[in-house]
Amino acid sequence: DLSTTIAEAARLLAGARDVTLLSHINPDADTLGSALAVGLALHRRGVSVRVAFGEPEAVPESLKALDTAGLLVHRDEVPAQPELLVVMDTGSLQRLGPLQDRVAGCTGPVIVIDHHVSNTRYGTLHCIDEHAEATALIALKLLDAMDVEIDEPIARCIYAGLVTDTGGFRKAGPAAHETAARLLETGVDAYGVTRPLMDAHPFAYLGMLSRVLARAELDQKAAHGLGLVHAVVGMDDARGVRSEEVESVIDVVRSTSEAEVAAVLKELRPGFWSVSLRAVSRVDVREVAQVLGGGGHRLAAGFTFDGAAEQVVAALKGALERVES
Ligand code: 5GP
Ligand code: MN
Ligand code: MN
Repeated sequence: DLSTTIAEAARLLAGARDVTLLSHINPDADTLGSALAVGLALHRRGVSVRVAFGEPEAVPESLKALDTAGLLVHRDEVPAQPELLVVMDTGSLQRLGPLQDRVAGCTGPVIVIDHHVSNTRYGTLHCIDEHAEATALIALKLLDAMDVEIDEPIARCIYAGLVTDTGGFRKAGPAAHETAARLLETGVDAYGVTRPLMDAHPFAYLGMLSRVLARAELDQKAAHGLGLVHAVVGMDDARGVRSEEVESVIDVVRSTSEAEVAAVLKELRPGFWSVSLRAVSRVDVREVAQVLGGGGHRLAAGFTFDGAAEQVVAALKGALERVES
C-alpha cells in the first residue's frame, strides 16, 4: 500500500548521493512543485540534486518563483544514466517527452509519485494514490516520512501544486483544506503564489482571448442534452503570448453553464494539436482522452492529436453520444 511504498522511497532517498527529479512536459505547478519540494529537502541534506522536464526549453514564468534554490536545469543537463530518478505527476513515459530515455538509462531505482488513474506503472517503485487531489499531497507524505521540516520554501511548492490541481480549492475536500492550513502556517503568501499561477496575464492575453472566444462553439445536441463547448487556439492566436495564456483558455471555456464537456484545441504545429478536456460530472473525459492516446483524470484530461480540428470535435461528439443516460 501507499504508506509502505512511501516508507521504501524515503529509505532509498536517505541513502542517495545523486537524485534526478523529473516533471512532465508542459509542466504545471503540481509536477514542478512536487519535484522542487522533494528536491530542495534533498539538496539541503547535501545530496546532488537536479530537477528537469522535457519541454518547452524554458521554465514557465509563472513557476519560476518555486525554484528558490536554483535546482532546475535544462533537459540536456540530465545525465543519460542517472543514479536515482523520482518522476512526479507523470502518468506515462510519453509524458516525459525527450527525457523518457532516462528511465531506461537509470542505473538505480525509478520512484514514481503520481495520482493519475491511467498511470502505466513504468519505473521500479510506485507511490501512486489515484484518490489524492494532487501529486503534491503524496510528495508531502514522502517529506513527512523523510522527517523533513516543512518550512516556507518547501510549503510554497506543495501549496502551489495543491491549489492548481484542486482548481483553486473548488474541488478540495476537508483533508486538502487542513493540509493547506498547515502549509500556510509556515508563512506562505497565498495570493503571492496563486496570482501568478492563476490570475496574472500580460495585456496581450485579452486580445488572444477575444479572438479565440469569438469563434467558440456550443453543441448542445451532443448526447442527452449534455453540451459540448469547444474553442480553437491557432498558432497565429498564440503568437505573442506565453504558454500560460494558452493553457488558461480552458478555464474560461469550461465556465459556460451549458458545457458538460469543454474542449480547447491548441495548435502546436500545423495539423498537430494539444487538446485539453474538462467535464463537470457526468462524462469521464479521461476515457475519451485515453482512446485518443492521452490520459488524465475523470474530469480533467488531455491528449495530442495529428490531423484536422474537425476530427477531434467529431470524436468528442461521438464520445458524448456514447455516454449512458
Ligand atoms: P491539461 O488540459 O491541463 O493540459 O491536462 C489535464 C489533465 O490531463 C492533466 O492531469 C494531464 O496530466 C492530462 N493530460 C493532458 N495532456 C495529456 C496527454 O497528452 N497525455 C496524457 N497521458 N495525459 C494528458
Ligand atoms: Mn500535472
Ligand atoms: Mn497532478
